[in-house]
Amino acid sequence: MAQITLQDHEINDFVKSLSLPGIIDIHIHFMPDNVMAKVWQYFEDAGPLMGRHWPIQYKISQSERLSFLDKIGVIAHSALNYPHKADMAQWLNQWSADFAKSQKSVIHSATFYPEESAPQYVTSAIQEGARVFKSHVQVGNYDPRDPNLNEVWSILEKSQIPIVIHAGSGPTSGRFTGVDPISSVLERFPELYLIIAHMGMPDYLQFIELAQRYPNIYLDTTMAFTPFTQEQSPFPISLLPILQKLQDKILLGSDFPNIPYQYALQLSSLANLGLGDEWLRAILYENAKRLFHVGA
Ligand SMILES: [Zn+2]
Repeated sequence: MAQITLQDHEINDFVKSLSLPGIIDIHIHFMPDNVMAKVWQYFEDAGPLMGRHWPIQYKISQSERLSFLDKIGVIAHSALNYPHKADMAQWLNQWSADFAKSQKSVIHSATFYPEESAPQYVTSAIQEGARVFKSHVQVGNYDPRDPNLNEVWSILEKSQIPIVIHAGSGPTSGRFTGVDPISSVLERFPELYLIIAHMGMPDYLQFIELAQRYPNIYLDTTMAFTPFTQEQSPFPISLLPILQKLQDKILLGSDFPNIPYQYALQLSSLANLGLGDEWLRAILYENAKRLFHVGA
């Protein structure tokens, strides 16, 4: 199959060629400016330590980022925030709620941290309209089995609100990354809606098996399959037939704006898997539309 390399200005035509009204990206970050600046600094400093350069491609203002997404046809997207310490999540949630109110394209996002107040502010966020949560096990450096999260998982399971969870050990591992802690959580909360970020890289197979075992486990494509990621954590070709079968459980994610390459590269990398147009339509649009009731 011919491999393609898309440029950002070609995304509209690519989306049109799939007969889609646009795309839905479930893994995008919008944060308070000072937090965003710190995240960018982290990647630009840590990249070389991890053995690679990580120049942020879209270090532009918030309004420029929003108009970029609009221009390339992202018709709905999350705006994920996550705390790296206690007493931060509630403040981030307030910012995210205000941001979601001001932007039609934004899927109202919220987050949490293992702390006593978590069940209360998670409940408030849901009442305010949060439709997706974000948990970052590596940056947060917490154990998903932390007793302070028991009630949070229970609330989210009952409300059937998906959580984009960075639980894998890529690009860097943490004390609690990997499939085991998440597996224990799922044994107790088997109906949880989890969207495993980055396809669970680098432990692709273990996380894919979770998606096969549990009804509400999804995977997001964030950074997976791109040349940048393939260099360090190549996706095993032998798993492609399973990806085809998991067509209804994979969602487009990009990590915009914190990526070291053009947005379009995520899309052409997915197309280059050769799993067909129907598969692409499901991943780029239909699955998220069904899950979040957004889109045209
Ligand atoms: Zn991310």
